Order: sequence, then C-alpha cells, then structure tokens
Amino acid sequence: MKEETQEEMMKLTPEQRNKAMISLLEDMDDSNQKLERKRGELEKAKAELEAFSTGLEEKVKNRTFELSVLYEVSNAISYTLDYQQLLKLIMESLFKIVDYDICASLLFDVCAVNIILKPANAESFKFIEELKKTLIDCTSMLACNNFHSRSVNAFVLPLDSNVKPEEGRCFDQLRSFFNVPFIVNAKVVGMINISSCRENAFSEEKIKLVYAIAAQTANAIERLRSVVDAEKTKMESMVESMAEGIIMIDERGDIVVLNPQARSMLAFEEQAEITTRKLLDKLQIMRQGIDIVERLASLKNHPVVKEISVQQEENRILHCEITSVSKGEKFLGICIYLRDITREKEVEGMKTEFITTVSHELRTPLSITREGISLVQDEIPGRINEKQKEILATAMENIDRLARIINNLLDISKIEAGKAELKRSLNNITSLVKKIVSSFASMAEKRGLELRMSLPEERIDVYADADRIVQVLTNLINNALKFTKEGIIEVSIRKKEKEVECSVADTGIGISKDDIPKVFSKFQQFSRVEGAGEKGTGLGLSIAKGIVEMHQGKIWVESKFGKGSRFFFTLPRETNGEG
Ligand code: ADP
Repeated sequence: MKEETQEEMMKLTPEQRNKAMISLLEDMDDSNQKLERKRGELEKAKAELEAFSTGLEEKVKNRTFELSVLYEVSNAISYTLDYQQLLKLIMESLFKIVDYDICASLLFDVCAVNIILKPANAESFKFIEELKKTLIDCTSMLACNNFHSRSVNAFVLPLDSNVKPEEGRCFDQLRSFFNVPFIVNAKVVGMINISSCRENAFSEEKIKLVYAIAAQTANAIERLRSVVDAEKTKMESMVESMAEGIIMIDERGDIVVLNPQARSMLAFEEQAEITTRKLLDKLQIMRQGIDIVERLASLKNHPVVKEISVQQEENRILHCEITSVSKGEKFLGICIYLRDITREKEVEGMKTEFITTVSHELRTPLSITREGISLVQDEIPGRINEKQKEILATAMENIDRLARIINNLLDISKIEAGKAELKRSLNNITSLVKKIVSSFASMAEKRGLELRMSLPEERIDVYADADRIVQVLTNLINNALKFTKEGIIEVSIRKKEKEVECSVADTGIGISKDDIPKVFSKFQQFSRVEGAGEKGTGLGLSIAKGIVEMHQGKIWVESKFGKGSRFFFTLPRETNGEG
C-alpha cells in the first residue's frame, strides 16, 4: 500500500477502514478473474491456431498434389495427337484426385459418337450402359442434336489392378454425378461425366478442378481438330489431283470421297447427284433387290478386281479394284480405285493382232518346209546316208518345236482377244484323265518317276471342250515331269457339290513364294533345271488359265520350294448345255 494511502487510511475510522479494505480485496478478485478469463481465451486461440495451421498444411499438400496432376495432364495434352488417347489420359489422371466410381467421356463428329468409360472398380461395370445413355442424352440436349441416331463407338478402359473398393460402400445405384461440357469456339463438342455411388460425393473444389481440366481438354481438342483438318485438306487436294479415280464409301453406304477423275471416268454429269446405288450399278457390282449395306459388307473379305466398260462418246475400259477398309476388326467401308486402260487395251489388241498375223504367216512356210524334209527323210527324191538322216531328224525336231511355239502364241492371242471358241460336249472327265495319264506312262517310266492316279469310281460329266481340257492336263503333267527329278506324280479328281476339282501333284523342285503369283502370267519361267527336258515357252500355264476360265473354272497352285507343287483346276459339273 502506498504511503499516502496508508496515511489516508489512518485518518479513517475503523469502520470506514474495514469497508475500504473489503472494496480493495474485491477489486483484486475481479482483476484475478479477468486474468483467468484472458488466459482461457488465449489458450483457446492457441489451440485454434494450431488446428488451423495443421489443416492449412493438409490443404496445401492436397492442392500441391492436384496441381501436379493438372500439370501432368496439361503437359501430356500438349503432346497427344489422338482424341482417344487424350480422353483416356484425362480420365486416368482425374481418378487420382477425384474419388469417382465411374467416369465417362463423349466426343462426337459428323459420323460417329465416341465414348470412353473408366470404371474405378469391378462393381462399376454394371453402370456402363446407363451412363452411355445418360451421356448421349445430356450431350444431345446441350448440343441440340440427336446423337442416338449416330453410330456409337464405346471403349471401356481396363480396371487399375491395385484398386480395392472402399468397404461399406453400397454399389446399388449412382447417387451423385456431375457433367462438364467440352466447349470449342462456343460450341459443345463433347462432355465428361463423373459419377459416384456415395451421396454428395464431390466437393465444390473438386468440381472446379474438373471444370479447369475440361477447359484445357477443349483447347487441346481445338488444336487437334485444326491439325486433323489441315491433314484432311492436304489429303483431299492430293486425292483431287490424282490421275486415277478414287471413291470411298463408308460402312453405312455413304459416299465419303469421290474425286473428279472418278466422276468423269464413270461418265457422271458434272452437277449430277450421285447416289451409292447409282455408283455401284455403274461399277457393275450391284444386283437387284440387294441391300447396299449388305453388299458392302459382303465385299469385306472378297476384294474385287475387274474390268468394266463405260459408254461415253467412245467406249472406255476401266480397271477397277475394290478393297475393304478396316481398323482392327471393325469394317469401315470400301475403297474403289479406277484406272482408264482404254489405250493400254488398244495397244494390247494391236499387239495380239500382230502376233496372230505373224504366226499365221509363219505357219504356212513352216508346214511346207516340214513336208519337204519329211519327203527327203522318206527318201522319195533319192537315198540319203546316216549322217544326213541325223541332220534332218534334228531339223525336224526344231521345226516341230517352232510349230508348237507358233501354236501357243496363236492360242494365247486368240484367248486374250476373246476369239477362242469352245466346242463343248458332255465328257466323262474320269475316262479323259485315264487316257491322258496312260499316254504319259512310258515317258514317266523312262525318267524313273512313279505316275499314279486317284480317281473316283463313278462317272463324272463335265460340259467341256475335250481337246482343250486335254491341252490343260497335258501341260500340267508335262510340267510335272519336266520339273521332277525323282518321286511321284499324281493326277487326282475330286467330285464336289457344284464342280469337279482336278489336280496334278509332283515331288519336284517346287516354286518359291515370290514366284507363285507370277506362275500363270505370260512368258514367266523360273528356276529352270539343266537337262530337264525341252525348253518351254512360258506360255503353257497362261493358256491353261485362259482355257479353264473360258469354262468358268478356276486354276491355282500350292507349292513348297524344294518339296513339290500341286496344280489345281476346277470345272463346273453340268449335265446339259445350258450352263
Ligand atoms: P513352260 O513352257 O516354261 O513350262 P509354263 O507356263 O507351263 O511354261 O510354266 C511356267 C513356269 O512355271 C515354268 O517355266 C516353271 O518355272 C514353272 N513351273 C510350272 N510347272 C511347274 C512345276 N510342276 N514345278 C515347278 N515349277 C513349275
């Protein structure tokens, strides 16, 4: 107590002094209580501060992770040149920061709707169909377009192997979801949907994050589209300026590409509307009453190569190749390639005519020469000695060879010019084969080769030109003998439902894989074996092909180099002359 206060107290009565003391004590108590309260408040504030700082640390950690994922996404987006890859990447990255059960994204173009789905766990698969529909519905509504009528390509990403669903989560239905559109140049080009089986599964922050990613994705889509458009324009101008005609028809029967050359080759008026049916009719590959889509699908595994003639001011002949276009297993449509071969055909015709004329002109002097030598050989003009006989025999052999070559040339030119005629009649192919094979028996024996037949017991009739069929079989057996050093030559016949299949197999030198496609072309000869009989002309097989095809049959070879070959040909089995 201060000295003045003490002095003042001394002046007071004891009663007054007591009161003052009490009031002093009360004041002190008050101050103490205030102090106590302050301390409590301070401690609370300290605890709050501590909690706040821990939360802040957690938040900063989460935010840093989210930012790192965002960075990863934006980095990857800049390098991706494929929409599917882009969306796959985004959905997989989102999965790291947003706890969804299934995520789906949709991008559409003029032809199709492409959906990618990422199930987060095994149970999510049951929502796939529902989500596809929801996403198409929402995008249709937002883009004011009905996407249900477009073809939908859906792709489901595989499950991450290390993901286990949270215990106690009920997967009976999707309880929360949100959609974020992809917007390019103020237009909706797609949508991403994030769904969960939990209620209120997504915080505002997470939704904002998805919006940020969607905006980045839209930018990437825009960039990608401009790259693709530039490429498309480049491709289009290339196709436009090609000398050949190019047409592409998609799997639904829509004409996607038709360059000006194709239009003019097929004699379509410049402004005329070209429908797929008109086009396929012109290409002579459409039959009445057949559905276009069905016809296109039937071309999938059967490419067509044909020549068609188109009536313009003058008749044009087009070489036409139709192939199918697929991506993996999916059939995308057909591509038609057209080349005007009118001039080539003219030159070929002139060449054939030249060969025919020359061969004809050669035949007469040759047969006169042959006749003359034959007379001398028969010693009609006078006797000749052994040496002279030998010389004449060699001359005769070469004259015969020359005659065969001339006959072959005449044959092939007639076949190619479509002037060869068939003298068809009903023939029992089994007895025809027996006769031909027996005529080769002594030649085979001389060469130490076993010549055998595998023929059905029954009679099989073909409506064919017997001489021409003998020509084909003779050529095949001759070749088999020529190219086989040891082993077996087997001639077989198999009766099939609509045709008869003949084959000549040998254990000879075989034909390499590279040479097989050339075997039936003119003047093609491979791996000639020294001393393997007379030198051929390389025309025998092309004549055989021509003859078989004139009979509406097919001819082909299966061969293993060094092991042997089997030549097959078929003839339609017919019992009357109407075929
Ligand atoms: P060639 O008159 O030369 O025999 P072909 O048209 O009959 O003409 O045959 C063409 C070529 O095909 C032959 O030169 C030969 O290289 C090959 N070839 C044909 N048949 C056989 C066979 N049985 N084995 C191996 N090669 C063959």
